[in-house]
Amino acid sequence: MRANLLEYDLEALARFCERLGEKRFRAVQLFRWIHQRGANDFDAMTDLAKSLREKLKTAAIVQPLAVISQHESSDGTIKWLFNVGAGDAIEAVYIPEADRATLCISSQAGCAVGCRFCSTGHQGFSRNLTVGEIVAQLWYAEHFLRKRLGRDDRVISNVVMMGMGEPLQNYAEVLPALRVMLDDHGYGLSRRRVTVSTSGMVPFMDRLGRDCPVALAVSLHAPQDHLRDELVPLNRKHPLDELMQACERYLAVAPRDLITFEYCMLQGVNDTSSMAQELVALLGRYGGGRKSWCKVNLIPFNPFPASGLVRSPMAVVQAFARILNDAGIVTTVRKTRGDDIDAACGQLAGEVKDRTAVMVRMDRRKSVSTDLLKSAGEKSSELVYGV
Ligand code: SAH
Ligand code: SF4
Repeated sequence: MRANLLEYDLEALARFCERLGEKRFRAVQLFRWIHQRGANDFDAMTDLAKSLREKLKTAAIVQPLAVISQHESSDGTIKWLFNVGAGDAIEAVYIPEADRATLCISSQAGCAVGCRFCSTGHQGFSRNLTVGEIVAQLWYAEHFLRKRLGRDDRVISNVVMMGMGEPLQNYAEVLPALRVMLDDHGYGLSRRRVTVSTSGMVPFMDRLGRDCPVALAVSLHAPQDHLRDELVPLNRKHPLDELMQACERYLAVAPRDLITFEYCMLQGVNDTSSMAQELVALLGRYGGGRKSWCKVNLIPFNPFPASGLVRSPMAVVQAFARILNDAGIVTTVRKTRGDDIDAACGQLAGEVKDRTAVMVRMDRRKSVSTDLLKSAGEKSSELVYGV
């Protein structure tokens, strides 16, 4: 079987070149062709020796993910759904803003953490993505956008691991993928522009801090253990005090010397003024008394039917933000982007997975085999978007 070169960080690619009997430095050229130029055809890599190109053609491939669908929002947000096989789909979302362009990517198909308010969590866990599947989301989006915008310089300036999955429950694959993003011969993104978001995998927060200290976002959602136990079940394993101490340890290496806390606003659940005050008290107990050790990002809940939860009204979100800001904690409210294309965590892939399950059942009944995901993708567009 040919090796998929998207699976390799530069060090792994250098080892691969050595196995082919080539000098390690060839890997730099190859890596730049793949990630900086978006090439997946070895014949196009004209400054590589013909003999090497021939070897590559028999031993390697640059394997993109198959796109099931692409949805564009009126605000410029683009959401892609990718087929990762066996009925699983994952998503990536491009969010252009005045001063940056962010790509939100997935780390797993489904998620085992099972947060109450998260559509990915409701789907359950299917499998970890490989390095190549994680990198392929950026590779595809970056080079698609360059073509579309007619640019040959970098389009995507920031990457956030806030799509499907818990990145720190797939550390072995996420770490090399981060290295590809940061590598000057790869995407050359700075550590402060790559964010790993975690629901609180404490041991791996420490490892990330040692191995590759990118920006860290921690999904908090509640200032008390008994509520967080319900919303983010991982809290039963790593309760708030343990989590906050891990955040303090991460501070020593965190870009910009701060941690971002995400807090999804759920009406009547975690959005009251007394919750805001408890959150102020919690954050005040850590960070060595320095208010600027963290910032809070309030996320208006993106509802989905099975959750039974409701988005807090904007006035409530604003009031909550004011209490935090008045206490000296920098707090922002996330703009809802791509609302018309359902560009929230796990939303669209959830639909496809459900449809796929239905189709599998139908297929069994009729004993007909079809190209499952392809038809599921079409079905999903029909049902979800009415197109
Ligand atoms: N598993 C990681 C990263 C993926 S989720 C984590 O939990 O941090 C990325 C962010 O989206 C998290 O902060 C998560 O709480 C939030 N999120 C999940 N479902 C949501 C929903 N329905 N509405 C708004 N935010 C949601
Ligand atoms: Fe998993 Fe994050 Fe969703 Fe929780 S919010 S279920 S950790 S993807």
